[in-house]
Amino acid sequence: MKIAVAGFQHETNRFSPYPTTLFDFEREDGWPGLTSGHSIFDVFPSMNIPLGGFLNFAKGRYEVVPILWASAEPGGLVEDAAFDVISERILDEIQASLPLDGIYLDLHGAMVTQSHEDGEGELLARLRARFGEAIPIAVSLDLHTNVTTQMKSKADVITIFRTYPHLDMAKTGFRAGVLLDQILTSGHRPHCEFRKLPLLVPLQSQCTDLEPTRSIYQHLTDAQSLDTVHADVAMGFPPSDIAENGPAIVAYSYSEPVALEKADQIEREFLLSENKFPYPLYREDEGVRLAKENIGGGLPVLLADIQDNSGAGATSDTTGLLHSLVEHGVKNCAIAAIHDSSVVELAHSTGIGEEFSGSLGGKHKGDGFAPPYQGKFKVAALSDGRFEFHGEMMKGSIANIGPTAALELADQKAEILVVVTSERIQCLDQALFLHLGINPLEKSILAIKSTVHFRADYGSISDPIILIESPGLNPCQLSSDMLPRLRPGVRIL
Ligand SMILES: [Zn+2]
Repeated sequence: MKIAVAGFQHETNRFSPYPTTLFDFEREDGWPGLTSGHSIFDVFPSMNIPLGGFLNFAKGRYEVVPILWASAEPGGLVEDAAFDVISERILDEIQASLPLDGIYLDLHGAMVTQSHEDGEGELLARLRARFGEAIPIAVSLDLHTNVTTQMKSKADVITIFRTYPHLDMAKTGFRAGVLLDQILTSGHRPHCEFRKLPLLVPLQSQCTDLEPTRSIYQHLTDAQSLDTVHADVAMGFPPSDIAENGPAIVAYSYSEPVALEKADQIEREFLLSENKFPYPLYREDEGVRLAKENIGGGLPVLLADIQDNSGAGATSDTTGLLHSLVEHGVKNCAIAAIHDSSVVELAHSTGIGEEFSGSLGGKHKGDGFAPPYQGKFKVAALSDGRFEFHGEMMKGSIANIGPTAALELADQKAEILVVVTSERIQCLDQALFLHLGINPLEKSILAIKSTVHFRADYGSISDPIILIESPGLNPCQLSSDMLPRLRPGVRIL
């Protein structure tokens, strides 16, 4: 049997005014750049990426036609031109590879374009419009998916990451292979029971290692046979601000009552957890005080700047937490990563051991956002930004994020090392410090820009973890007036 595979990934944050362009999909960042044709077989099988997992399942079972895979760092609305170019390329190349027995798509599930609030649903609709209903389509999605009615009705089967931090990305692609294989060998499509829940859960409360999400996820089932039931849950991505925002359940079975019963059970558990989600957040000043009180426990204290997470579409250049750490005169502290390409350029032209004066970060002028940090910097280390990830989530991947620098604040009582990058990148791996010779374990305080993914690689080397609510483009305390497109009747937690 012959299967075409493609991937098109974006997590869209409408709070970001910066559009996502075709170039953003083409270039390499923390993930591979746009990859097409047979290079897909060289790049993906060793990576923790759904397409890699699917390829490992398909090897020796199917003839695989590699179409293309493209992703961009989360950010503002995807430009129509970018969406159309990549979608049409996927469609045209699938057309050229007909006849096919199946299609597998590695999608995110929270893509919003200038014209379509359900980017993935639109891509699936275009596939159906061109190729009809005959070819089964299996889709894997991120846990931060706003599953829509359109996605559910256009795909034959959907499976979703079950961990946040996303440790099971490749496993999810493999599972999509198992499900597609059952459809192909049986010749039958399963019934789908689909539920959209009347809740919106903020990102910081979605961690699957912590309650109540952990318990909800224990009810999922992994069907080796669709005669039983395969069920998944998506937690949703609130910053996409679409009508069908928020958590959803999909349950697939050849038996409709079995799928219905499973969806009912998970829905009940989810709704019973409604009051257990919120976690305490601290403003910068309060959080830094708390961090200072907790130094000396053996491990670094970690401050997570959860609203400035580029992995959720933020600018990764806010300075609220940095200003507060300076005011409190903290010692032996390291921060990662502030995005400022002009400061990185200055650092590289200045050279290691030398000093320069400048203005760091704070380029976005939002309500309550702190101004750029002005001061003198000593260049502690420089890198070309090519390094390997070692943490459980990203290991096997090579970052290629352009030049980076570690800068010491030279004219302050505080002892702070700042990792500055020329691209936006979430600090979800210790490699962001290590590639510049900074050992995070030797620090008293670590300040990192990430909402939850950091827990995979920093969870065991830091204590306590303090969540900071400093103004950023990934707002974590949501309200209905911030989400004008949300359908009525949804409770925001
Ligand atoms: Zn995600």
